[in-house]
Amino acid sequence: MILYHHLSPSAGDDAEQLLAQAVVQHLGVEGESSAAKALAAEAGVQPTPPGELQAYSDIHRIANGLHTADCLQQAIAWCVSRSRQLQTRRSKLLFRLHALQYMHVLMGTHTPQSIKAARGQCSTASAPTPSGQSGPHPPPAAQPQACSPASAKVRMVGAKAPHQRTRAANATLSGGQAWSAEGWSPVSREHAFAYARKFLHEHMEHHQDDIGRLLSCAIFMPHLERSPYADLGRLDELCQQVGTLYRRDRCAVEGLRFESPLFQVLAASAVARPVFDKLQRRLLRRGQGMSLPSPGDGEGELPVEVPLPESLLFHSVFVCPVMRSAVDTRDDPPSLLPCGHLISSQAVSRLLGDEDEGGCPLCHTPFHEEALQKVLIQ
Ligand SMILES: [Zn+2]
Repeated sequence: MILYHHLSPSAGDDAEQLLAQAVVQHLGVEGESSAAKALAAEAGVQPTPPGELQAYSDIHRIANGLHTADCLQQAIAWCVSRSRQLQTRRSKLLFRLHALQYMHVLMGTHTPQSIKAARGQCSTASAPTPSGQSGPHPPPAAQPQACSPASAKVRMVGAKAPHQRTRAANATLSGGQAWSAEGWSPVSREHAFAYARKFLHEHMEHHQDDIGRLLSCAIFMPHLERSPYADLGRLDELCQQVGTLYRRDRCAVEGLRFESPLFQVLAASAVARPVFDKLQRRLLRRGQGMSLPSPGDGEGELPVEVPLPESLLFHSVFVCPVMRSAVDTRDDPPSLLPCGHLISSQAVSRLLGDEDEGGCPLCHTPFHEEALQKVLIQ
């Protein structure tokens, strides 16, 4: 709000409320549920629904805690409970989680016992509830230590702090020093192979090369950093990559935002700012000024094209993948098939004809007319 008044002192209370709402939404998406609730109460704006807040804090807790068997097994259990949706998305998440679990076992940071205990704990918690949402996970405060990156046993020799590990790992690896894998012993390799036989085997069809690397790297233990498989030993980096994938896929499957709108607006502003600065300097040189327009006020606005990265481009033009043409979604909203594919109503009419059952033209999943959902794109 201070920021907004600084930018535009003439802005009214409505703008302040809207900004507060955006910040509340942002805090919710970032998993900061208590801060989101406190700000909503203080600013008198609509709070994020409690179910959504819980889902986000759950997602962040697990994504940031993949160093631990508890969080890793919770993530795997969620994948298993949503395997159909993940398959539709051609997601690699379940394989990547199992690969990460395999590396933890191989490097001795997790044992079959710790995995078994974690699996026992989350087998009921991750089961989908009748409402279709994930089951109740313990709140973040309930297991702060279980999912803390600091609880990971693998550390680089000379690494000072968890957040410095990635840089320290690269530096130390290039220097040829070894990982200090406290829990590693030759039996870790046997445990890892047992895990691979049980859980990686089913992914052979799509991930044969990756599985080959995972198995081959075991012969270089405990000096993985001197092998062609050094990347597989950087558990911090792996956890971060898989954590991002988990957040992305879980948000997509559960219909949640992956990035907050406020973050996207600020990111676009950061890209656009130099363009406006340059323009302002030119206008000032000519003796003209440029002032920020008030919201909704077209006066003073300048039509300036700012190239944005693809991740920040949004549009409401829907191109039907079947008819291969753009559709005006306001008059003719497209239909969502149970498999997750979105096609125009014209394509649905062609597919079904006089029947009330058909198959998705993209993945051949059968569907009933009653299962179609109209999607309004704004
Ligand atoms: Zn389909």
